[in-house]
Amino acid sequence: MNILLLGSGGREHALALKMSQSTLCGHLFIAPGNAGTAQCGTNVNMGVSDFEKIKAFCLENAIDLVLPGSEEALVNGIYDYFKSEPALQHIPVMGPSKEGAQLEGSKAYAKLFMQRHHIPTAAYQEFNADNYEAGVAYLQQHSLPIVLKADGLAAGKGVVIATSHEEALAEFEQMIKSAKFGDASKTVVVEQFLTGIELSVFALTDGHSYQILPEAKDYKRIGEGDQGLNTGGMGAVSPVPFADAAFMKKVEDQVIRPTIEGLSKEGIVYYGFVFFGLINVGGEPFVIEYNCRMGDPETEVVMPRLKNDLLELFNAVTAGKLSEQTIYADARAASTVMLVSKGYPEAYEKNKVISGIPAPTHDQVVFHAGTRQDGANVLSNGGRVLSVTSLAADLSLALAHSVQTAEQISFEGKVYRRDIGYEFI
Ligand code: ATP
Repeated sequence: MNILLLGSGGREHALALKMSQSTLCGHLFIAPGNAGTAQCGTNVNMGVSDFEKIKAFCLENAIDLVLPGSEEALVNGIYDYFKSEPALQHIPVMGPSKEGAQLEGSKAYAKLFMQRHHIPTAAYQEFNADNYEAGVAYLQQHSLPIVLKADGLAAGKGVVIATSHEEALAEFEQMIKSAKFGDASKTVVVEQFLTGIELSVFALTDGHSYQILPEAKDYKRIGEGDQGLNTGGMGAVSPVPFADAAFMKKVEDQVIRPTIEGLSKEGIVYYGFVFFGLINVGGEPFVIEYNCRMGDPETEVVMPRLKNDLLELFNAVTAGKLSEQTIYADARAASTVMLVSKGYPEAYEKNKVISGIPAPTHDQVVFHAGTRQDGANVLSNGGRVLSVTSLAADLSLALAHSVQTAEQISFEGKVYRRDIGYEFI
């Protein structure tokens, strides 16, 4: 089968490599891709939300499956677009409908969905310009800290954890009155602060049945010991030691099954990955957020541990036979360490020549994120540049191997964390 994968990050390289290893894989195209995805298939210079161009490309290249890597195309309605175009209706899109993607695209929508289906999540209220004064009163009596979330997508910056009422009120005013995040903060979710340890759980679904993939934990802060600014993610580990069978049973019974049953009952069309951003509060799982696609850098540890043929799983999703599948995970632990450009997540320089990337082995792959091929050179092309994933008998060995390789790779201004998975080592 011919596949079109949309995206250009480390996640997309990990997905491209996984699909390219399937005997079912015909031509694999990645739009726009990076220097790593070019080693798994053919990069295509096309935007992920340029639906007209995507349509023409799919028809010219007899594409049999489209996999959007990030939320962008999904929230913009790529699934609905394909279903509304007679020439494209036969091509499965491995992602939710525009409505299903609202689980990620609108935090207020996700909160209401969880309420309707009794899924554990932090207590909350939503506010906008019409009930602004009620919001101010609500904030004034709220216990500290207070979590404020812009309803819509805000490039991972729309969540503020205020430690004083003054800060919360100022933030609330900026979000609603000064449109700090544009339309995304017209509505604000004000939420109870939960204390615990976070993890990411992934399921693949056809909207009725589901399979649970290996779980992961990512590390968002730029600095070691979880210090400094938030980033897109500086590394990840899988498995997560506290996610034992008893905890995962609670996750399945209280979160995953009610979510999929909720989608099914409400007739919300959903194919593809569901990402449950969870927090373990005293042994009980609570949902912090839903995403409608895989995580990055979590994918860089989840895909290498997944032993199944990913295209076989996608075909089962399309055929409504997902319940007949069994997921097999590599018993080894995986750790990925992200190499980023100096200055990231703020201003950074691109176009640095990268050298020393080792060839993949059975226990290590260097995934490309922000890279591009320039003649014989690979150049940095983003804040997050490479993701070094290692598999080993335990997390500490996997991390040591990734750090060793991170050391050997060179480009000007290389920055990385050596403590990914530190709580478990
Ligand atoms: P991203 O896309 O970067 O994962 P986001 O902008 O979609 O984030 P959330 O995941 O909802 O926003 O929140 C970002 C982070 O804020 C969470 O990973 C978590 O660390 C923290 N957070 C969110 N909600 C709560 C809460 N109720 N209690 C404690 N911490 C929270």
